[in-house]
Amino acid sequence: MRTLEFAGQEVPAIGLGTWYMGEGRATRAEEVAAIRAGLDAGLRVVDTAEMYGDGAAEEVVGEALRRRRDDAVLVSKVYPHHASRGGVRRACEASLERLGTDHLDVYLLHWRGQYPLAETVAGFEDLVDDGLIGAWGVSNLDPDDLRELACVPGGDACVTDQVLYNLTRRGPEIDLLPMTREAGMPVMAYSPLEQARLLFGSGSEVLEDVADAHGATPPQVALAWCVRDGSVLAIPKSASAERARENAGAAELELTDEDLAALDEAFPAPDGPVPLETL
Ligand code: NDP
Repeated sequence: MRTLEFAGQEVPAIGLGTWYMGEGRATRAEEVAAIRAGLDAGLRVVDTAEMYGDGAAEEVVGEALRRRRDDAVLVSKVYPHHASRGGVRRACEASLERLGTDHLDVYLLHWRGQYPLAETVAGFEDLVDDGLIGAWGVSNLDPDDLRELACVPGGDACVTDQVLYNLTRRGPEIDLLPMTREAGMPVMAYSPLEQARLLFGSGSEVLEDVADAHGATPPQVALAWCVRDGSVLAIPKSASAERARENAGAAELELTDEDLAALDEAFPAPDGPVPLETL
């Protein structure tokens, strides 16, 4: 299984997303079962946020992790408008309550907002000191933001930047990924399946061909592509236990140079820097 070092732990390069959980798109039992199936398949990183379902996704995760908290490397995110020094503590405590745990492994700033990065970092460091979180990171920060973050007191303790990255969103390869690789900081790829759209759009027949050659499936190829160089952790979301297991299988799939060339042709990278995209 492909693994990488994330927040001081060796974890599989595929994790579990939870956006839209707790919102009635699937039953709660299905969502809980899907997270548990991913963990049973050996996945560790579970990604959630106070934003998802207004806290309802964290409650689903809490139920999935009941009596098995230590199986997960648990990541949640704070809203930018809660990211003042005192605000992060209040938001974190509310997340912990919904998650039914006493600590997060990693706490992320969901995106940049009105509070200076230095203030948010100070708030995160307070939480580390008090044992409420193990480490902290950011999300949706572009290379300029990361350079700014590196200059604030304590900013070098950031353990990840979670960004939109998949076969149809390759902008980070131009500037952000070379920078984070150089810094030895893993990136979390969100929406690694482009919310399933890349399974049906242009290029999907190439995904199918590559999948067939490996006895794999198109989503597994798309996910294996995201994590191919060992510096990226992809966090697909599925509310189905079967698809969560399928996604976990992507950590076992090694793409060949020939596969990568075919995927490059079907899903070309941009020629030059593009502003960081978000969803
Ligand atoms: P994904 O790219 O993970 O796609 C999820 C969609 O793909 C769902 O509709 C799911 O349906 C479907 N799907 C998953 N696996 C399969 C499969 N094997 N075969 C077919 N369909 C599949 O999109 P997300 O936007 O959910 O991104 C993943 C996670 O990243 C989020 O859940 C969240 O945790 C995080 N995120 C973070 C953001 C940020 O700003 N930091 C922004 C967006 C996402 P089904 O559930 O029915 O299987």
